[in-house]
Amino acid sequence: MGTDRLKKLLSHQQGILSKIALGVPLSEVLTEICSSIEQIIDDESARCSILSVKGQQLFHCAAPNIHPEYCSLLNGVYIGPKVGSCGTTAFSKSRTIVENIETSPLWEDFKDLALKFGLKSCWSTPIFSTQADLLGTFAIYHSTPKSPSKQDLELIDFFVHFSSIALEKSNEFNKAKQLLANLQQSNEKFKAFTKVMPDLILILSEEGIYTDVYGTSNELLLDSSKDLIGQSVKDLLSQDDAQMIMDVIKKTLSTNETQIFEYELAVPKGNIVFEGRAAALDHYHPNSPTKRHVVWMARDISIKKKAEQEVHKLAFYDPLTNLPNRRMLSDKLSTCVESIKRNKNIGALLFLDLDNFKRINDSLGHSAGDEVLVELSKRLSAIIKGSDTLARAGGDEFIILLKHVGENTQQASIECKIVAKEIQRAFHDKFEVGNLAFQVSCSIGICLIDSVNAQAGNILKFADTAMYRSKNKGGNSSSFYDPALQTLLEKQTELETDIVRAIASDEFCAYFQPQVNTYGDVIGAEALIRWNHPQKGLIAANEFIPIAEQYGLIQKLQNIVLHDICILINELKADNIIDDSFSVSINISQSQFNSSNLKGELFSTINKFDIRAQQIKLEITESMLSSDIDYTIRQMKELIAAGFLFSIDDFGTGYSCLAYLSAFPVKELKIDKSFIDKILDSTVGFNIAQTIISLGKSLNLEVVAEGVETTEQYDLLKKMNIDAMQGYLIARPMDKEGYAKWHSANTNAQ
Ligand code: C2E
Ligand code: CA
Ligand code: CA
Repeated sequence: MGTDRLKKLLSHQQGILSKIALGVPLSEVLTEICSSIEQIIDDESARCSILSVKGQQLFHCAAPNIHPEYCSLLNGVYIGPKVGSCGTTAFSKSRTIVENIETSPLWEDFKDLALKFGLKSCWSTPIFSTQADLLGTFAIYHSTPKSPSKQDLELIDFFVHFSSIALEKSNEFNKAKQLLANLQQSNEKFKAFTKVMPDLILILSEEGIYTDVYGTSNELLLDSSKDLIGQSVKDLLSQDDAQMIMDVIKKTLSTNETQIFEYELAVPKGNIVFEGRAAALDHYHPNSPTKRHVVWMARDISIKKKAEQEVHKLAFYDPLTNLPNRRMLSDKLSTCVESIKRNKNIGALLFLDLDNFKRINDSLGHSAGDEVLVELSKRLSAIIKGSDTLARAGGDEFIILLKHVGENTQQASIECKIVAKEIQRAFHDKFEVGNLAFQVSCSIGICLIDSVNAQAGNILKFADTAMYRSKNKGGNSSSFYDPALQTLLEKQTELETDIVRAIASDEFCAYFQPQVNTYGDVIGAEALIRWNHPQKGLIAANEFIPIAEQYGLIQKLQNIVLHDICILINELKADNIIDDSFSVSINISQSQFNSSNLKGELFSTINKFDIRAQQIKLEITESMLSSDIDYTIRQMKELIAAGFLFSIDDFGTGYSCLAYLSAFPVKELKIDKSFIDKILDSTVGFNIAQTIISLGKSLNLEVVAEGVETTEQYDLLKKMNIDAMQGYLIARPMDKEGYAKWHSANTNAQ
């Protein structure tokens, strides 16, 4: 290249590059490129055009000295293997030199157009980006057929390079512009969304700082004058509320899962129920990308919640009395049945129907009837425990669901009978309506629910049937669905009445069974209650103790036994055949043990006879230890402090809480008779007895075997190092006089 030409080239290059750098519009830069090459190239007739490729088409970007009509007719031409010089170049991605347009097969379809505008030769070069993508074509036309010299081609390559820079730069610029436009659009959308959203949207940092607030501003959480941003949930909310929010943040960030939950906040406006959604938000602050956040959406659903509650109330409650209705009762019954099946205990359903309600309604009108029903619902509610359900089934029918009335049928039926009596007591007082007062009564049908009969659908029917049985008896009574149960209960009720009568006529007394040590010394006796029935003869304890206990009569019986114990001790003392180490055991039942009155009751009797507490041993069963351990220990300690001794009866049969045994301040363990029965012919029986004896020794307790019937048992137990024995072998339980005689006969002269 000549120096002149080189100089020209350099000055043009400078002009072009500075235009590109300054961001001059693309068409201007490309026009400059075209004009420059036209000026520098040897032939004056040279005309340059630059086309860009878009998809499969070519478009003119610059061709300052070619007729605009020619350009516009070719604009948008589809590239292909025979589409003039540029179309072919774009198609083959390689340079196409056409010396003579008129004769070139590539120009067959376009030559007329080119010739019309005096264009006879065309050299086209592809323009590639730095990534080797095709950006366009660069063409030089001449008005005579012509082929390029080596210098021409060098020059073309120079300008193609500039064109590539200009096109690429412009593409990048356009892309950035597009990106910015998209960003602006989504920003506008986001602003519009947050404006119409009824929700509060927060961005909270991992530490619980309100970082951003959108949507329904802060009004939901704060007075509108204050600003949430920058404050911590811990400073703004109560401790519990803040803790709840912190827990959700923690869970959201640790699981990376969106959390959906409901929560209630106490805010200045009052208590608001929200539906919350929280999702993890990473890289929220580009400057500290490791800092984690959550986006938290809170929707005020208080109104919806309230409406739901209203609907629930209408659907499940009786509007007159506010009691659960039949539907709610059915639900509760199903749940109750399920739990009974699992826990194998017994529940009950009581169906109540007023006997003479129709009369009130007919004579005084419905509003008077309603008043009676409301008053009755109050009286009945006062009887029902929190865990049980009282429902109004419609009209003058009420249903009571008792979840737990006992572990066995006997207990359950007695408990139900007691509840039925309480219900009937609720009718004792007249119902006042205006100036009038009415005596109302009800018929009750009872159906026990146990794991066998448990079918929710039948239970209501059964209780209803039983209720009709009460109606047939003339009303104002209760009946069980199960006739066998009905008979059993009638018998029990009879027994209860009989016990009450028998107490008054002094038919109970204590029998005494001695306890001896392995040297044959009498060390004590157990008092066992007996009923001297005028018709039935002597009745053993097991036949009436459970009934007495359930009907609350046990205390009276206990006092009789203790009374007899005191008389006996005083007699034996007077005969000088016992010393202070002799003690008499008395059986204490669960309900007595639980009573805070126990100590008072015991002292009120023994004080009368001047007996010391040390001579009374309280026998409680092992199962009584397992209920409320703290209470049990407290109660025992108090009685021990007062001087009484403790023995654990039926040891080995309960849910032995061996772990606690050392915590209970007892003096003695009594091995249950069932193990003594098996001690000779079963290794299990032997092993258990042996274990209890060793246990007793290790805890420094005395161990007594009860129910010893044979000399073989006696000998074996003696070998096993038992402390004392009680049983028919030594003596059967005897009345006071019998015992005193036996004792003096069996005491070595002192
Ligand atoms: P328990 O406390 O285990 O009393 C021992 C029972 O076994 C007594 O029956 C006694 O007569 C019987 N027995 C004693 N030695 C033998 C023997 O060698 N063979 C056989 N087969 N039986 C023997 P009882 O008097 O019928 O008392 C039964 C249960 O009634 C007692 O069991 C006790 O739990 C309760 N009981 C008895 N009297 C009272 C009392 O005054 N108050 C309380 N709350 N419960 C009492
Ligand atoms: Ca006992
Ligand atoms: Ca026992």
